[in-house]
Amino acid sequence: MFNRLKVAGILVAAAGFMAAPAWVDAASDLKAVVDQSTKAMGVENLRTLVISGEGADGCVGQPYNPNSDWWRRFSDKNYVRSIDFEARGWRLERVQGEGENPGRGGCGAGPITDRTQNQVTMADSGSPWNNQLEYILLPEGFLRVALERNATVKTTTVKGKKYTVVSFMGENKATVNGYIDETGYVDRVETTIDNNVLGDIVWDAVYTDWKDFGGVKFPTHILQHQGTPKYFELTVSDVKANTPVDLTPPDRGGRGGGPRGRGRGAEEPISEDLGGGFWLVTGGYGSLVTDFKDYIVVIEGPQNDMRAEQIIAEAKRLVPNKPIKYVINTHSHFDHAGGLRAFVAEGASIITQTINKPYYEKIFKDPHTLAPDRLSQMNPQPKVKIESMTEKKILTDGEHTIELYHVQGSTHNVGMIMAYLPKQKILVEADEFNVGPANASTPTNINPYHPNLLANIERLHLEVDRIIPIHLPADNRKVALAELKTAAGKN
Ligand SMILES: [Zn+2]
Repeated sequence: MFNRLKVAGILVAAAGFMAAPAWVDAASDLKAVVDQSTKAMGVENLRTLVISGEGADGCVGQPYNPNSDWWRRFSDKNYVRSIDFEARGWRLERVQGEGENPGRGGCGAGPITDRTQNQVTMADSGSPWNNQLEYILLPEGFLRVALERNATVKTTTVKGKKYTVVSFMGENKATVNGYIDETGYVDRVETTIDNNVLGDIVWDAVYTDWKDFGGVKFPTHILQHQGTPKYFELTVSDVKANTPVDLTPPDRGGRGGGPRGRGRGAEEPISEDLGGGFWLVTGGYGSLVTDFKDYIVVIEGPQNDMRAEQIIAEAKRLVPNKPIKYVINTHSHFDHAGGLRAFVAEGASIITQTINKPYYEKIFKDPHTLAPDRLSQMNPQPKVKIESMTEKKILTDGEHTIELYHVQGSTHNVGMIMAYLPKQKILVEADEFNVGPANASTPTNINPYHPNLLANIERLHLEVDRIIPIHLPADNRKVALAELKTAAGKN
């Protein structure tokens, strides 16, 4: 193919045609493809680009409902991304606010008020690959990196539209593909990344509604997905080329692109005996190990494989020679579900709210080839066993009892469940009450999560002596119900 086209090119030249070969005929020549696309987009001499607009961004793994078409959605107002293509970095300024009314979902435990962000991110080689991808997913960034990485070129037709597809291998061993349309615009860039819950997921950026901004052609609509849900959307109002861009990091905010959330790295687990065959495992997100007559029940399989393996090892140390039969999952947010796959590998059944059952059954079958975990490496694959509950479920062997309740009215997650230990008078909850410092007084602005949790406790007539938040208090104190009452403005 390559040789034939080359020969054809020479013949055309020899015949005296002034025009370059037709767009698709140049498909075998990476440089010609990149040059033609660069010219079509008017970015031959591009050094910087300042993109302004309004849109939304998503917090992956934190939606209110696992079936949403967006990740936990925030609005982005006064969005300005100032990119320096030589330095391979950018400044992102925006006002991030609630993306739904009322705000729902995780990424924090409560509704947010508008927050001004100003972050500088570097995406030069040596930066985390996902940072580099934020650059590569840009039409102009893609073309530059495609040249450096000796991309391959082919043509294809998608839904009747002809594309030149430029592809190269990413540092995570996944292919990056850019689709260049017949005009020469980079219509779409896509690749695959690892997500520890979902496995191999597509991260794509789709560029539509192109417009001429003083000679530079740029899309006025950008849409990104990570996996199935939307991750980022921008309606572009203005684009400026080659204006100075300052990449001095702001005093606050630091470099962007980092993960949101807490407690990624697990410490050594330490167990607190809660009495009657129940233990709290600390040293990361909290989990409970319970010694039922013939088996172990664990409350929460959080974070990741590493944390789950620690909890599993601690459960086996505390309760030798019994299988882990159940792992109770408070909700489907990835920081609370990230260890479930390790429990499935261990042979445990997941107990979760009914909305999560089809979701987990689907996603736990998806491949994890980029970063294989314990479950994905098992052959044959164990069956994913899920027991769902709607409003209430009681686990008991006569001596040990765990009551599970759906948290009604949660705006954090639609399928939130909490666990109540009637003998210990302990309530285990996730994200509905993430405690701050001890001896806090009633806040001026009441977080609506707190009166809602209190209303659930009262509705169910639960006698609570102690609350164990899965996000354990920093000082490891015992949290009394009075703390929730204070936070809820009811003391
Ligand atoms: Zn959550």
